[in-house]
Amino acid sequence: MTRWAAVAGWPVDHSLSPCLHGAWLETAGVKGRYDRLPAPEDGAKKILKTALADPDCAGLNVTLPHKGLALRLADRKTDAAKSIGAANLLYRDDGKWVADNTDAEGFLYGLRRQAPEFQPERAAALVLGAGGAARAAVYALTQAGARVTIANRTEKKAKRLAKDFKAGVAAWPPDVREADLLVNATSIGLDGASAPPVDFSASRNALIVYDLVYRPLETPLLKTAKSSGRRSVDGLDMLIGQARPSFKAFFGVTPPDLDARQILLEAMERT
Ligand code: NAP
Repeated sequence: MTRWAAVAGWPVDHSLSPCLHGAWLETAGVKGRYDRLPAPEDGAKKILKTALADPDCAGLNVTLPHKGLALRLADRKTDAAKSIGAANLLYRDDGKWVADNTDAEGFLYGLRRQAPEFQPERAAALVLGAGGAARAAVYALTQAGARVTIANRTEKKAKRLAKDFKAGVAAWPPDVREADLLVNATSIGLDGASAPPVDFSASRNALIVYDLVYRPLETPLLKTAKSSGRRSVDGLDMLIGQARPSFKAFFGVTPPDLDARQILLEAMERT
């Protein structure tokens, strides 16, 4: 019997997760597999249910657009998954399927790795965006004790998110003057050319700019932040930080000590 896990989503061909989990499996000497599970919108429920019914399936990572479906398929939900309203991880516990959300943990992991001096409990955080990534970031930051404000192009979505987490709402385009941490949780920058409309000249010198977009690794926002002398945090460690607890949940061992960033950077060059 070979235990297997997979990342389910649509599209899923460019997911970097199999490279990372594959390297961890090999180095840890665990007999197991980590695959891609393409799940087009119509038929996704059946595909996920069939995977979960396989006794060799150790669990699934679930990505867009099925994070809500993952939550509904589980027997039990963690507090993080319930609060965020989405799950990126389904794992077995005592014969039951548990839905968890490790994006919030990954978000904090990225901050700890790249801005270890950041103290959330003393910080004012401004989160741009109100989609799934923003929900995970806002959950993580409020849990860690930060004062959070949300700015989103569509204000009513920012208001809805703010209400769920007792956060503040700010206008779009965002005013970053009062922020200690700026988080880009929008998809702006994925094209390698666009950036959220931010004026760094008026921002605090110690502002940390965290872009959750990791492809390209240095987004236009991070480029401008750096050239304005502001500290930058890229999104790659968030990806690693959400994968680590998933691996442990699937295969029962902590990921071995590998240069996960290098593995992902090489995979990004290939694909
Ligand atoms: P989503 O649910 O589709 O939300 C997208 C957000 O971007 C919305 O708030 C949307 O605003 C905003 N937006 C899109 N285009 C915009 C534009 N031209 N101007 C202003 N706002 C715009 O996506 P998501 O799942 O939250 O993901 C967002 C990004 O986070 C992704 O691109 C991904 O790269 C990144 N991410 C990274 C990780 C990681 O591990 N590093 C994990 C998850 C996600 P409206 O509400 O106005 O449409």
